[in-house]
Amino acid sequence: QEARIREQEKLAVVGQMAAGMAHEIRNPLTSVRGFAQLMSEKMAEEQNPYKEFMEIMIQEIDQADSFINNFLQLARPKPPKMQACSLNQLILNFIKIFESQAFLQGVKIGIDLGEIPTIVIDKDQIKQVLLNLCQNALQAMNMQGTITIATRFHAAEKEVSLSVRDNGPGIPGDNIDKLGTPFFTTKDKGTGLGLSISYTIVDKHQGRIEVESTIDEGTCFKVYLPVYEQF
Ligand code: ADP
Repeated sequence: QEARIREQEKLAVVGQMAAGMAHEIRNPLTSVRGFAQLMSEKMAEEQNPYKEFMEIMIQEIDQADSFINNFLQLARPKPPKMQACSLNQLILNFIKIFESQAFLQGVKIGIDLGEIPTIVIDKDQIKQVLLNLCQNALQAMNMQGTITIATRFHAAEKEVSLSVRDNGPGIPGDNIDKLGTPFFTTKDKGTGLGLSISYTIVDKHQGRIEVESTIDEGTCFKVYLPVYEQF
C-alpha cells in the first residue's frame, strides 16, 4: 500500500510534461471521433459495407482516449468533483456505448441492478472505473461469454456495491496481490494503468475494491462506495 503511494508520487512528478502532451492529443482525437461517428451513421443509411471499418476506427479511438484518461488521472490526479448521482442510471448510460463494443467481440452484457439509494460521487471518475473493469472483463474473454454488471445496497454497512463479473480464465493467486500496482500487466499490449487508476479513484471516494477469482471460471471485481446520510 505504502509502496504504491510512493510510486504514484514519483509518477506524478515525472508525468507532468507528458500530461500536457496528452491534452494536445485528446482534442484532435475528439474531432476525428465525431466525424467518424457521423460517417458511420451515413454509411449505415447507405448500407455501405465499410461501415464496419468505421466502427473499428471509433473503437480504436476510444481505446486511445481511455489510455489518455488513465494516464492523466495518474500524472495529475484531480480531486473528485462530488455530486449526488444515480449509479444505476450511470451504468445504463455507460452500457449504451459499451454494448456495441462488446457485441463486436461476441460478448453479451447482463445487468442486475438492485434498488439502491442516491450516492455522492465524481461521475466521470466512477465511469472511468466502470470502463476499466469492463474493458478488462472483455479482454479476458475470448469471443464469447457474458459480462454481468450488478448493483446492491448493503443497508447495515451503509454501502452500495457495483460489481463487474466475467467468465474468463480467472486470475492466478500470485497475481491477485499485484493488482493495482502501476504498470503491472500480463497483456502484450497492456499498460497496467487501468486497475491502478481505479483503485486510486475508489480510495479517494472512501471506498474499496474486492476481487474474487476462480481459475477457469471467472473473475468478479466489486467496488464498494459509501452512502452518506442525506441532510
Ligand atoms: P492492463 O489491462 O493494461 O493489463 P490493468 O491494470 O487494467 O492493466 O490490469 C492489470 C492486469 O490484471 C491485467 O494485465 C490482467 O493480468 C489482470 N486482470 C485484470 N482484470 C482481469 C480480469 N477480469 N480477468 C483476468 N485478469 C484480469
